[in-house]
Amino acid sequence: MSISIKNIINQNVKGKSVLLRADLNIPIFGGEITDTSRIKRLIPTIEFLKNSGAKVIILSHLGRPDGEFNEAYSLKPLLNKLSEALNIEVKFVESCIGSLAIKAKELLKPGEILLLENVRFHKGETKNDIEFAEELSKKCDMFVNDAFSCSHRAHSSLHAITKFLPSYSGILLNEEVTALESVLNSPSRPIAALVGGAKISTKINIIEYLITKMDYIIIGGGMANTFLVANGFSVGKSLYEKDSVTLAKSILEKSKKYNCEIILPIDLVVANKFEANTDTQIVPFEMIPSDMMALDVGPKSINKMNDILTNVKTLLWNGPLGAFEIEPFGNGTFSLAKLASQLTEENKLITVAGGGDTAFALNKAGVAEKFTYISSAGGAFLEWLEGIELPAISVLSNN
Ligand code: AMP
Repeated sequence: MSISIKNIINQNVKGKSVLLRADLNIPIFGGEITDTSRIKRLIPTIEFLKNSGAKVIILSHLGRPDGEFNEAYSLKPLLNKLSEALNIEVKFVESCIGSLAIKAKELLKPGEILLLENVRFHKGETKNDIEFAEELSKKCDMFVNDAFSCSHRAHSSLHAITKFLPSYSGILLNEEVTALESVLNSPSRPIAALVGGAKISTKINIIEYLITKMDYIIIGGGMANTFLVANGFSVGKSLYEKDSVTLAKSILEKSKKYNCEIILPIDLVVANKFEANTDTQIVPFEMIPSDMMALDVGPKSINKMNDILTNVKTLLWNGPLGAFEIEPFGNGTFSLAKLASQLTEENKLITVAGGGDTAFALNKAGVAEKFTYISSAGGAFLEWLEGIELPAISVLSNN
């Protein structure tokens, strides 16, 4: 996928009312906001708009309120954090459409910021409803999508809205697309992908696509067990997906045609129980005991995978190599993460990571800051890696 999108930073936004679709889907527990990284990543676009004299109108969803008002999903608790992060009082209006929203938009002055209430309080949003999009567009002059992480959804505030307003990408969305394009379309070679984790059936299609793009694919986690079964080995009580075995076999076959080397674990850390500090053994991949489960890659695998990392120029990382949240099954993930970050610091490796638990695992390894780029997106990142066009991105590039 090679795309060209008009970036808002090249536009004159002075005095314009700019509708900014953000991803403020931030976990709120009992009114407390624990993770503000999504707010931080939005700041460059908001600052640009504010400092350029635009009237900034922020639109986002939070959770899945199923098209009706539900206080638990109100964006209001984010107001203070947003104001703090931007060092300006952000205004709030209790609806994203209708007379209240129109009035609030009309009262906004250049350089001011308005947060609209959760867009998913309206049924039209997830249906990509045209009339709802038209309502959203009222009293706005331009639309900016800075929510890459939502762009795999054809929803009104991401897709239909572009029919009513000149539409652009924000700074964060642009960063995400540039990072992903640079690894998939014009990477420094050799390039390796590391794919692990537990969502096997969701991710196996990614591997199928990546064999056409990568020189190496390192496979760990539950995914590796599925490939071991595809190679005819028994994996005891380990997590694997029976329904994905046929596809795994065909991937192993096809990878040869594309000159992509698939690296599977050669040894594994196994245990009887999926429990912290339980007894473990290290066994060769072909000798997983029938009453045990593989929960991490072993030391020989780590050495082999490290060798690959030192020999490639680009690494794309999605998913942990083991059950890293539980002691002592984080070794594989943390060792490779440390080496990858060290090589990145030494300018020997470009590292792009994202999707699901990956950012969490890299944070736990204490290396997330050192990676070249960590995507803020989960599902959208995975769909992009699978070669699927993201509707809210395509509609921007056709704009
Ligand atoms: P994903 O969301 O697909 O990236 O999966 C992440 C989850 O996979 C984490 O919670 C890990 O604990 C889990 N995981 C990784 N390796 C294994 C394994 N060998 N067996 C069971 N769970 C695993």
